[in-house]
Amino acid sequence: MARGARFLTVGAALLGAATPARAQSSFADATSMSWDGVLTGIFLGLLLFSLAYNAAFFGLLRERFLIWQSARTFCYFALAVALSPLAMGPWLAPDSFARQVWITTFFDLSVVVSGVFLRSYLEPGMIGPRLYRWLGWPPVLILLTTPATLIPDAPAYMMLRSAVLVAMLALAAATVVIALRRGSRTARYQAAAWSGIGGVYAVSLFHDIVLGQPFASFLFLLFPALGLEVMLTALGILDRLMHLRRERQEARAQAAAMRIIAHTDPLTGLPNRRAIEESFNDDAPVAIALVDLDHFKAINDRHGHDVGDRVIFATGVALGSGSALAARVGGEEFALLFRGAPEAVAIEAERLRQRIGAYVAQMVPTLERPVTASMGLVHIGSGTSFGAAMKSADINLYAAKESGRDRVVFIEAA
Ligand code: GH3
Ligand code: MG
Ligand code: MG
Repeated sequence: MARGARFLTVGAALLGAATPARAQSSFADATSMSWDGVLTGIFLGLLLFSLAYNAAFFGLLRERFLIWQSARTFCYFALAVALSPLAMGPWLAPDSFARQVWITTFFDLSVVVSGVFLRSYLEPGMIGPRLYRWLGWPPVLILLTTPATLIPDAPAYMMLRSAVLVAMLALAAATVVIALRRGSRTARYQAAAWSGIGGVYAVSLFHDIVLGQPFASFLFLLFPALGLEVMLTALGILDRLMHLRRERQEARAQAAAMRIIAHTDPLTGLPNRRAIEESFNDDAPVAIALVDLDHFKAINDRHGHDVGDRVIFATGVALGSGSALAARVGGEEFALLFRGAPEAVAIEAERLRQRIGAYVAQMVPTLERPVTASMGLVHIGSGTSFGAAMKSADINLYAAKESGRDRVVFIEAA
């Protein structure tokens, strides 16, 4: 039997040809046609393009399916070279047994790799965990039946191989159909990509079974069909990568938005405690102040919570308009981080504290009494933690409250 014959036996079996004998008959004819070197050249060129394309995309997005698709393309390449009359050195001469082993092995490897390619290429959640597992190791079983095509007159072994191949075909087809039904875009590309090969095999089987004669143009059409598969899969990969990139951009934008939300106080729009702590740790300030509105409960009680909120908002505007970084760290409690010249801190702190009354009076004119605030201010020595700095500022704030409110207390911690 000619070197490629057993390969086609494999191929026909893959598509369910009932007996190896029939597949062999279709092959005998296929090899008798003259090999079109140009066609092989185009196909090999296409495969090289596909390899370069996958490598380029892998540089951008390190998706595993690009590696598996490259492995498949490599198998096709090795197959196409071996099926052509190209000289491959003394060890792999055309019609040699070694070349036959080469052809069968690469065909089987391409089947093995197709399973893992398919499961990593489909969008997540398109197939269940069991099907996902079946597409992993089980296809390796095909390699146990590889010798069947090399041993003459072993019909039972060959039948076993046909059964394994048909099972794998069913597995791949089921995967694509299930994914299609779940709305997978990549499955659509796969279905289209494999339709050419399926069509060629179907016509071949029709010739074998119904017309009783082999399909003469089998190889002539098979390679364009394989080329179509490679091209459509490449297109599908492009589509999948563009989707992945968009998904990642959206996820990144969402993460950035979440980060802003997680670091912002919703009432005042100022940074919150978490944000100011991060700022403190990133770039240590020279001083920190804690500000608390005086008798705020009374405002809530007399004017209602809504008016209280507006007072808090106005306080945020007042404190946020200076050179210090302002944050809302509690109900009506704010923190200020001072950076720059340490000598200027006390004046700026007092200026901001005074500003609260003016801003609140302007923004919430319905209040009967002016709003005042107490402030605890401390300088920060090198190596002071955020917690220790806040504690010192709180001690000074307490002192300001105790000594009559509406003032700043600025005593260095002992
Ligand atoms: P002091 O001068 O001692 O600080 O007196 P105070 O009344 O301000 O006392 P305290 O700081 O303990 O009271 C804070 C009040 O702020 C209690 C709480 O009901 C109110 N509060 C906390 N968060 C909010 C808020 O988001 N909006 C409003 N309207 N009120 C709040
Ligand atoms: Mg208060
Ligand atoms: Mg308070």
